[in-house]
Amino acid sequence: MSEAVPKPQARSERRPRPLGAPWAEDLRAGVRRADDLRRLPLAPEEHEHLRPAATAYKVRIPASYLELVDWSDPDDPIRRQAVPSADELRPLPGERPDPIGDAAHSPVPHLTHRYPDRVLLYPTYVCSMYCRHCFRKEALNEDDRGVALDRLEPALRYVAEHPEIREVILTGGDPLTLSDGQLERLRSRIEAIDHVRLLRVHTRVPVTLPTRITPELVRALRGRLVTVVVTHFNHPREITMAATEACRLLREAGFMLLNQSVLLRGINDDPQTMETLVRELVYTLGAKPYYLHHCDLTRGVSHFRTSLDEGQALVKGLRGRVSGLCIPHYVLDLPGGDGKVPLGPSFVRGREGRCWSFETWDGGLHEYEEQLREPGPSQEVPEPDREDRALAWDAARALAHHGARALWHEASAAVRGLRRLFRGSTIHR
Ligand code: SF4
Repeated sequence: MSEAVPKPQARSERRPRPLGAPWAEDLRAGVRRADDLRRLPLAPEEHEHLRPAATAYKVRIPASYLELVDWSDPDDPIRRQAVPSADELRPLPGERPDPIGDAAHSPVPHLTHRYPDRVLLYPTYVCSMYCRHCFRKEALNEDDRGVALDRLEPALRYVAEHPEIREVILTGGDPLTLSDGQLERLRSRIEAIDHVRLLRVHTRVPVTLPTRITPELVRALRGRLVTVVVTHFNHPREITMAATEACRLLREAGFMLLNQSVLLRGINDDPQTMETLVRELVYTLGAKPYYLHHCDLTRGVSHFRTSLDEGQALVKGLRGRVSGLCIPHYVLDLPGGDGKVPLGPSFVRGREGRCWSFETWDGGLHEYEEQLREPGPSQEVPEPDREDRALAWDAARALAHHGARALWHEASAAVRGLRRLFRGSTIHR
């Protein structure tokens, strides 16, 4: 006897579709394509204005990131990082599609080998959000897929054949958009290469899709290698409860947590915002500010770019106001692939042989004489009145430090005179 075919359920009797993981729902409810931007509370002319950029470059904004936007402010720093702008289609002549020369140092597909001891590996060109300032936005545009592991074989073989490589840096795209299984397989392939000592994961997922950081994802990343997760927070308002929880999971897994920010005009280029950002990175997230990148010569991001002078002044202003733990290295990635250069700022104001003058954090000046032991007979000189000399030295230095700048030259002359007088003796500070 044939079984009765069950009658289709009435719509009201059907069970609701089970919800996906919170992060999947977050992506589903957000902006996934240019047309979805119509749902944002923007004026009709704003929609028209941004549409060409939204179709030229990928768009994706998770719903939770959209919730951080203050829609009453057209220059809101969260909105500007996520919502396309007509300025993206107004490139300057010196801007480039590959601003830091990744391709120039790519011996095999999906890998960049710029510095001897580390490589970048690109397992995907997908991100949880497509940031409007991204320096790889053109590369991301070209490829919409995650890279299947077999397409990474030449890159993994390259790492295995180069014993000088100590660090493998997963970047992209965002590597944490891979599934837990893909991450685990990739991590175990990398850690099977004996000379690799450290795995780095460069990701903006803790910022833009923090619920994707789950205990399962953390387990997939944990293995024999020292693992460093480098996040990308640019503004204090991105440090939400969910982001804090994501970073807590990563830290408790034993991963080192660092952050790199991009210096972005109108977003984090004022002293108060930068100060709050670097403090909260350390005190709330436990993430050491590692790099502050000068905005690269990416095509169509000039509306985000500050001058180098402005960047140096900003970072210089952090010294003394925030703990050294909170101060990032301000760096420029040279176009063409020549690597990073630290931009300082330098606090060296002059030098005469072993005598240096330094600017102090609060704008004073300090003379410092190097004390280096020369090979040969002892250089000790008897000093019956050493204490008096030290007092005289300190007085001159205090005058230089606290006095008006106009007095500095006179003070310096006094210090130089003292130095000539006491040459060869040791003066205690
Ligand atoms: S997450 Fe990173 S790679 Fe992806 S768009 Fe943003 S900055 Fe670019």
